[in-house]
Amino acid sequence: MKAGLFERLVGVVGSDHATMRAGDLANYQYDGSADRATPRAVVMPASTAEVAAVVRACVECDCPFVARGAGTGLSGGAVPEGGAVVISMARMCNILEIDPDNRLAVVEPGVVNAHITNAVKHLGLQFVPDPSSQAVCTIGGNIAENSGGLHCLAYGVTSHHVLGCEIVTPQGDIAWLGGKTADAPGYDLLGVFIGSEGTLGIATKVVVKLTPVRQATRTLLAVYDDLAAASLTVSEIVAAGIIPAALEMMDRLSVQAIEEFVHAGFPTDAAAVLIIEVEGLPESALEAAVAVRDLCARCGAREVREARDTAERERIWLGRKSAFGAMGRLSKSYYVADGVIPRTKLPEVLAAVERIGAEYDLRIANVFHAGDGNLHPLIAFDDRKEGDYDKTVAAAADILRHCVKAGGSISGEHGIGIEKRDCMTLQYGDADLRLMANLKAAFNPAALCNPAKIFPTKRTCGESGRLQAAVPQAADARLVSEPAF
Ligand SMILES: Cc1cc2nc3c(=O)[nH]c(=O)nc-3n(C[C@H](O)[C@H](O)[C@H](O)COP(=O)(O)OP(=O)(O)OC[C@H]3O[C@@H](n4cnc5c(N)ncnc54)[C@H](O)[C@@H]3O)c2cc1C
Repeated sequence: MKAGLFERLVGVVGSDHATMRAGDLANYQYDGSADRATPRAVVMPASTAEVAAVVRACVECDCPFVARGAGTGLSGGAVPEGGAVVISMARMCNILEIDPDNRLAVVEPGVVNAHITNAVKHLGLQFVPDPSSQAVCTIGGNIAENSGGLHCLAYGVTSHHVLGCEIVTPQGDIAWLGGKTADAPGYDLLGVFIGSEGTLGIATKVVVKLTPVRQATRTLLAVYDDLAAASLTVSEIVAAGIIPAALEMMDRLSVQAIEEFVHAGFPTDAAAVLIIEVEGLPESALEAAVAVRDLCARCGAREVREARDTAERERIWLGRKSAFGAMGRLSKSYYVADGVIPRTKLPEVLAAVERIGAEYDLRIANVFHAGDGNLHPLIAFDDRKEGDYDKTVAAAADILRHCVKAGGSISGEHGIGIEKRDCMTLQYGDADLRLMANLKAAFNPAALCNPAKIFPTKRTCGESGRLQAAVPQAADARLVSEPAF
């Protein structure tokens, strides 16, 4: 225990922006996952210099620290295991520069995703990656998780829309990865940083690409009586050479929950619905919409509707974006699984998800980025029922096993964090993990920057994450040592 760290933090950010009060700390114990841990302190720096000073103070006192955006992460990335200091980006929320000629903006990490598009739409521009949480999640969190979104099928995920990042390294130095132009010589450190879940440093400025809004958008809703027919449509559309801007699927249980919640106009008796959005010049968007309609019908859709106006389009998207929240109407607690499969394997893996639900006696709703093959089975459970959570975690692990077996991956966009670190061994061998650990050590040799995330503990995939939090056994020795204060 090193005396005086909190006083040093207060010296950097001021007493109004640092806290050790139990009531305050409780708000920073969690993100959108099931994991919990109490931080030693929370600090809210307002500038890169303050972030660097906070990191240096933590390093000198041998205290772990973790950056936090909006806390919507779904894998425990911002959870301060081991009594880490939470470095909140909430005050670094300014859009610093908008450069329409070069189609870029420079923003602070605490800027909310949707605020970027809101600030540039009068210029006919947008920031494309649009996670369903975009009304609250931050660009710092998006970078850390390499977040995807509803319109990432045609345009790519966060890493495709970030040109550069200023970071504070885990030692407290300030460095730039990439910049305002397309390619930086030397190693692609920006590529390494994006998706590193806050373990390689803290982003303090971000250069994002801005993309012109397309002239025409057509949004179709295809309704199916059979889940497999909907899945088949997804691969048929892409096989036909059409890359929609968005291609989303929801099954019966999620449609029913959404309808109860926001009345988006989805048919509650359908086995599945697809939202398919095509964009481009008016003629090409029309052509693509006609082709999609035709494919949906040939694959067995019972109905294909097109949004007649912006209000109807927005209602459809409100339905999709409310899907996770709507689950709260079905169950007090639910667990969001996240895996990827080749889209041609959708029928097979969705059937496996259904079997797993029956086997574990759990209700599972599916709402997901079907075009990317990015599954989100939402597993309903009862937190108050002994053993229900552990059963849920085991079911989620079985689903991930199927994803890997089908040639996919254990995470599509939510990251590994705490929740899935023990599932890394499903996908990676020792040599792969060693390479990643060496890379982490090159950036973060003292392992104080968001320690113990991503890398497997000694436990096996499918055991309860809560158990791990209670008995920290992470490969990272840092977790086991007494936090410094
Ligand atoms: C309802 C709902 C819907 C969602 N939909 C999607 C979706 O469609 N697509 C998707 O990809 N995700 C989705 N998510 C997950 C989540 O919103 C994203 O992962 C998001 O990017 C997290 O941003 P955040 O600001 O909340 O980050 P946090 O949860 O605060 O942090 C996430 C990680 O980022 C790190 N971090 C935060 N700021 C920085 C920084 N400045 N520098 C370095 N590391 C940092 C943290 O340490 C942590 O490891 C959804 C979540 C919810 C609750």
